[in-house]
Formats: sequence, C-alpha cells, structure tokens
Amino acid sequence: MASPTTHDDNQRGPAKRVAVVGAGVSGLAAAYKLKVHGLDVTVFEADGRTGGKLRSISQDGLIWDEGANTMTESDADVSSLLDDLGLRDKQQFPLSQHKRYIVRNGKPVLIPSNPIALIKSSFLSTQSKFQILLEPFLWKKNKSPDTPESVGGFFQRHFGKEVVEYLIDPVVAGTSGGDPESLSMRHAFPELWDLEIRFGSVISGAVQSMMSRAGKKSSSGNSKRRRGSFSFLGGMQTLTNALCKEVGQNQLNLQSKVLEMSYSCDGNMVGNWSIYYAPEQNKQLNQQSFDAVIMTAPLGNVKEMKITNRGYPYLLNFIPEVSYMPVSVIISTFKKENVKGPLEGFGVLVPAKEQENGLKTLGTLFSSMMFPDRAPDNLYLYTTFVGGSRNKELAKASRDELKQIVTSDLRQLLGAEGEPKSLTHYYWSKAFPLYGHDYGSVIEAIEKMEKELPGYFYAGNHKGGLSVGKAISSGCKAAESVISYLDSYPGDKPEG
Ligand SMILES: Cc1cc2nc3c(=O)[nH]c(=O)nc-3n(C[C@H](O)[C@H](O)[C@H](O)COP(=O)(O)OP(=O)(O)OC[C@H]3O[C@@H](n4cnc5c(N)ncnc54)[C@H](O)[C@@H]3O)c2cc1C
Repeated sequence: MASPTTHDDNQRGPAKRVAVVGAGVSGLAAAYKLKVHGLDVTVFEADGRTGGKLRSISQDGLIWDEGANTMTESDADVSSLLDDLGLRDKQQFPLSQHKRYIVRNGKPVLIPSNPIALIKSSFLSTQSKFQILLEPFLWKKNKSPDTPESVGGFFQRHFGKEVVEYLIDPVVAGTSGGDPESLSMRHAFPELWDLEIRFGSVISGAVQSMMSRAGKKSSSGNSKRRRGSFSFLGGMQTLTNALCKEVGQNQLNLQSKVLEMSYSCDGNMVGNWSIYYAPEQNKQLNQQSFDAVIMTAPLGNVKEMKITNRGYPYLLNFIPEVSYMPVSVIISTFKKENVKGPLEGFGVLVPAKEQENGLKTLGTLFSSMMFPDRAPDNLYLYTTFVGGSRNKELAKASRDELKQIVTSDLRQLLGAEGEPKSLTHYYWSKAFPLYGHDYGSVIEAIEKMEKELPGYFYAGNHKGGLSVGKAISSGCKAAESVISYLDSYPGDKPEG
C-alpha cells in the first residue's frame, strides 16, 4: 500500500496526485488514463478484490461470470482502451450471437434479427406488425410532455402494448433489472428520447441518423470493427485485470473503504483533498492527500460518507435515495445428454407476462454455447438471472430455492432433466441503479457536488448508462476533466 505523502507546496516537480475511489471498470479506466498522462494515481477499493461488477471465476474446468457477461464497443473510448491494452487477441465473440430467444406461451421463440425478419415472422400479431410498419405515420404524441414518461408509455405510443410486453419488458429486465413502467424513458434511453424530439417518428429518426452516421464514417475512412457483444478469454474480468496490471499493484489499495473526505483551500496549490479510509467502519482511519478525486462508488455509498468543505461539514442530504435492483446470478451445469432441447445461440429472455406460464427467472445465457471453452465437452453451462424489480424478494432467496426455480425453468425451456451437475450462485443486493422517473434529481446531485467541490469528479454507471462500455466511457471522461482541471492551475488554483 502506498504510504501517506506530504507535498511541498511550491514544488512543481512531483506528479500531481489523484485519488480514484472504487476499482470497478469505470474507476480502473479512469486510473489508467490518468497514469498514462503521467499523473500519480492511487485507487481505493472497499472490497478485497478489483473489478466491481466484473467478476469472473475459473474453477473445476469451468469459467463463468457472476456479473457482466458481455459488453459492446459502444463508445470510441472503449475501442481505444482495447487497442491500448493489447486486448484485441483476447476478445471472444459468441458463436451464433444473433440467435436470441424470447419466451412466448411458455416456449422460447427465436427473435427475428432485423426489422424485415420481424415483419415476416409470427413472433408478433399482424396488428403489431402493422403498427411498426406504419409508426412513421401513426405514432401518437405524448399528451403530457411536462411529466416524466415511462419506457413502457413511450414504446406503447409508438409501437403498441404487445411490443412493450414481449420485446421491451424482457430486454429492460435482462439488461437493467428494471421494468418498463418504473424506468424513465428520458434517462434509460436518452438517444431514443432525443430521436423523438428531433424527428417525431422513432423509425424515421433511426433511419435518418443511421444514414448520416454511415456517411460520416465513410468520409472519415473509419475502419469497421466487428460488431456485437463480446467477452474475453477467461471472462470479463480479463479486462479489469489488464487495467490493474497497467495501473500497478502498488497503486491499488484493497480493503480500503473511503469513509471521509475533506477539501481545504488554505493557499496551498496542492494536496487540498484528504482521503480517510479503513477496511471498515470503526477501524482506525488512514489518511492520504491528493490534488483531485474521481469518485466511482455507487451514489448510495457516497451518501454515507462524511465530507468537509473548507472546514465546514458538507451535508449530503440533497442526494436523493437511489433505488437499486437486486439480482441473483445462478450458474448451473448439466450433462449434455440430460438436456433434451438445447438451443444454439446467446440466450433466452422471459417477459414478465410469462410468469403466468410458471416461469420465474428473468432469463438465461447459454454460456458454453456462446463460448465453448467455458465448460468441458460433455457439459452445458448456463447463467440464469433472478430478481430485478419484477421479483425483488426472490433475488435474495436461498440457494436451494433458487436451484429449484432455475431447474424448473430450464426444464420447461430447454428440456434440462434431473439435477444440475453443479450449481453456484452470487447475490448482488445492488446490481443496478434504477434510472427511474426522478433520476434527474440524481444527476443534479452529482453535478452539484462537482460544482461545489473543486477537483471532485464523479464517474460510473450512475450517470450516462449502465453498460460496461458506458461505465468505461464515463471513467475516461472524468479522467479528462481531472487533467484539464489540474492543467488549469500550475500555480494558480481556481477558486471553487
Ligand atoms: C449481474 C450483472 C450483470 C450485468 N451484465 C452486464 C452485461 O452483460 N453487459 C454490460 O455491459 N453490463 C452489464 N452489467 C452492468 C455493468 O457490469 C456495470 O454497470 C459496470 O460494471 C459498473 O461499473 P462501475 O465501475 O460503474 O461500478 P462498480 O463495478 O460497482 O464499481 C464500484 C466500486 O466501488 C467500490 N466502492 C463502493 N464504495 C466504496 C468506498 N466507500 N470506498 C472505496 N470503494 C468503494 C465497490 O466495491 C466497487 O468495486 C451487469 C451488472 C450486473 C450486476
């Protein structure tokens, strides 16, 4: 662990010091960027391991992920990070990744992979298909634009109820643990929200933006990356392990929960931030000084911290309560001969409505179908999700109860007979923050802290998106903000 440092105020020589709180993917991406820029970075992580919601396990010839299973190259920051870390040859693209299923009438149905296939298929009723085709002409305006609209309300106005129940609901439950009514359209799908403002029709807007993006790409000569979801050899944690290696073990403080922070502006140009940390509450606090801080701990944890601003307590009562979605991840293996209806592809999602047909899980990834090296040849490895806003209580059920639920659903969906050969589970009490109707006040609270506390920046999945790609991008952006903040006071620190 790095020892506490005191700075000589007038020294320009030593690199400026930045604390990063949280060693999830956003914090590690930020720390990496800062280090590459020549800054002296120290990461504080409450847990005894790095990676946060990226958690890969390799055991008994199996490899599985208990957090995020795949990611996409959603942002330019992700592409450069993968290039810079030399991770391209470790990227693993799932076999048949476009084969994805949604349950209808108790059975998995292949989701048409493009709009034309959707119209040709029998996945939706003829009425819904017409509604999709005619959306550019028939979409309904939001009657109360001043009140926050739900994801369900938005998609129902554009495509009808069946699309919400059988496409939107399973997708949002599977990717955020939320449900169409609790999620705010503006915060959960900002791009589509914006598309409606600009074009009215979502379909016309999507087509026009796609055409303009394609034009820009071909004129900038951008090379085409392989699209779609991917993981890495060894699982998703390969990414955070690579980041840790670059940041350096000495820069990473594990079991170092940040409990207090204080900003002072006593004329010194450096070391205005003090970070106090300990393995847990009521243990003796250690202290280190920094010039800037990137906070990536969940906002609910930030709210529990004690912050002092220029000698006065900085009360965090303006931070609203964030709702977190609990999820259990269950990893099971079955002998191939015991699975009578295995499906090739990515996985299957279960709409809430299908609970009427006895199904209780949110969905299952066909992990060893996607990545055959994740299990021996004679086994299928499945990753199943339970809980979310649909079933919060079930998320924290016992292993035995979860085993019963998962085996029952996999029997119905894939013909998996008998007991699983192995089963393990991981419970995330706060898997995802819910981007609910009042999420604007969460963003405002984050911005207020950034404005009132000089040198304090926030990154992570509480702003800008829940995915791994968005968390990386948010970490990279916070690092850029720190760099320009520190560049702006080589000797003249701006007043906050
Ligand atoms: C079950 C599950 C499945 C998912 N599947 C996918 C997927 O397939 N694809 C995808 O793109 N995304 C997925 N996600 C979402 C994605 O994994 C996360 O949004 C992303 O990894 C969040 O990264 P982060 O750095 O913002 O936060 P985190 O990973 O939560 O990191 C925050 C870190 O801060 C630490 N911390 C908290 N308080 C303190 C403190 N006081 N002091 C010091 N450290 C502290 C925590 O211990 C943690 O390590 C999934 C998430 C879950 C839970």
